[in-house]
Amino acid sequence: AAVIVAIDGPSGTGKSSTSKAVAAQLGLSYLDTGAQYRAITWWMLNNGIDVQDAMEVATAAAKPVIVSGTDPAAPTITVDGEDASGPIRTQEVTSKVSAVSAVPEVRTRITELQRTIAAAAERGIVVEGRDIGTTVLPDADLKIFLTASPEARAARRSGEVKGSDLAATKEALIKRDAADSGRKTSPLAKADDAVEVDTTELTLQQVIECVVTLVEE
Ligand code: C5P
Repeated sequence: AAVIVAIDGPSGTGKSSTSKAVAAQLGLSYLDTGAQYRAITWWMLNNGIDVQDAMEVATAAAKPVIVSGTDPAAPTITVDGEDASGPIRTQEVTSKVSAVSAVPEVRTRITELQRTIAAAAERGIVVEGRDIGTTVLPDADLKIFLTASPEARAARRSGEVKGSDLAATKEALIKRDAADSGRKTSPLAKADDAVEVDTTELTLQQVIECVVTLVEE
């Protein structure tokens, strides 16, 4: 049967690298749900939507066509047929995505998309996000919740973004986590039956091995 793995946690915990590697090693599909929230945010910004206006965002939420390619070796995302993988990683999108993803109509729309993709994965799928184990796929076969100290997370993020300043990165990251955790709708949360893995002192390879072992158990 298809195996469903949910990997949740804040940014900078190695979630994406871990999820992709685990999916590749086990021959499973891969879905980056943060990329979907980033994609809908990018579309809103491009289409003159005031992202601070929840009503406006809610009304527009059904409009963009978002398609995710689930090959862990080469994940893709398009919005209305256009490749969005580059533009969804800009500072502008990163600073606006929490507001857009807090809107219930956005979450309902993206959650449906995620469930459809997961159900279509023949061998199974690794789905990474914030609310996968709690809300999107509560019946997942394995739920992982990745954590790391704020210092470790900021250092990792800083290493990913060219020319970024460590103190500013840490500040922005803490702000985004607070916004993501404090929402009434689907906050960042650990499911009761999730396995928590603190990655602060672990290498990426160790985290990958740990998760692969848990899937195979
Ligand atoms: O994982 P990533 O940092 O790319 O996610 C970007 C943003 O998308 C998060 O800060 C959060 O606001 C939102 N998100 C969400 N639910 C998810 C995944 C991401 O609300 N399952």
